[in-house]
Amino acid sequence: MMKKSCFLSRTDESGLTRRMPIGLIEGATPGERITVFGGQHGTEYAGIEATMRLYREIDPADVTGTIVVSMATHEESLMNWIQFAPTYPEISDMMLEAATGSQYIINCHGGEFTELMHPYVICRLIGNEDAEALAMRMARAFGVGIVSLSTYRGEPPPDPSGKRPAWWLWPKKGLCDKLGVPEITPEVGQVGDRDDTIMYGGIINVLKELGFLEGPPVQYPEPVVIGDRWWLTAHQDGIYFPAVTVGQDVEKGANLGVVRDYFGNVLQQVTAPEDAKVMNMNIGMPVRKDGFLIWLGQL
Ligand SMILES: [Zn+2]
Repeated sequence: MMKKSCFLSRTDESGLTRRMPIGLIEGATPGERITVFGGQHGTEYAGIEATMRLYREIDPADVTGTIVVSMATHEESLMNWIQFAPTYPEISDMMLEAATGSQYIINCHGGEFTELMHPYVICRLIGNEDAEALAMRMARAFGVGIVSLSTYRGEPPPDPSGKRPAWWLWPKKGLCDKLGVPEITPEVGQVGDRDDTIMYGGIINVLKELGFLEGPPVQYPEPVVIGDRWWLTAHQDGIYFPAVTVGQDVEKGANLGVVRDYFGNVLQQVTAPEDAKVMNMNIGMPVRKDGFLIWLGQL
């Protein structure tokens, strides 16, 4: 029974060393193992707050099994305030090391500095019935009530533009696919808000649900699964003026905002393609051609 901390590290071909702070909470009673990641994207603060708090506050005497906590999975993006940072191979490799030996993975994400996010959980389906049932159980226990199902279907056909298709259509291979274990990705927190109430509460309830922590978990109803989704982008460079916010239910044809030039001319009227809920949106003023504006989910 103990807590210990260390850094994993990897040096790339150019000689740059990246590191990942890891906390290990070995419980009083032996049991299973879970890995919790925060900060794969370094301006998604709710997950970083929640994972640091987890390591700081959990008493190993109250734990069955082992909890591995990665508090700043992409330290470089955290320390340099980099949004949408790519996960370098060295970071993926350290994530694999941190998750190897675990029966469960929670990978905390959320909205970056310039993003509003309505809380939901991505639940990874890996083609293994038991793992999928466990992932759904974790998603329900997390408690935010909305789930997005995601399945790795191989690599997408090559696109002449070199761009990868939308992440929900062609998800990248995850740790769950490599390790064959259930994984959830909570998408909680937004615009630099450091309130970890939902994220921390969700993680604690999953730890109770899986038996890592004592006490009955809160029993939430089955979450709603997001059906169709609409990912709306800018037709050209401009300044975005949103007219809605996340969590809002909009009707087909509703005004979602406009893209203008500096002089007020409307370059693009953004409207809802169907009845849907606003899940995630850009609040940054500038938008680039093809840049993200807003996505809506069918619930
Ligand atoms: Zn993220």
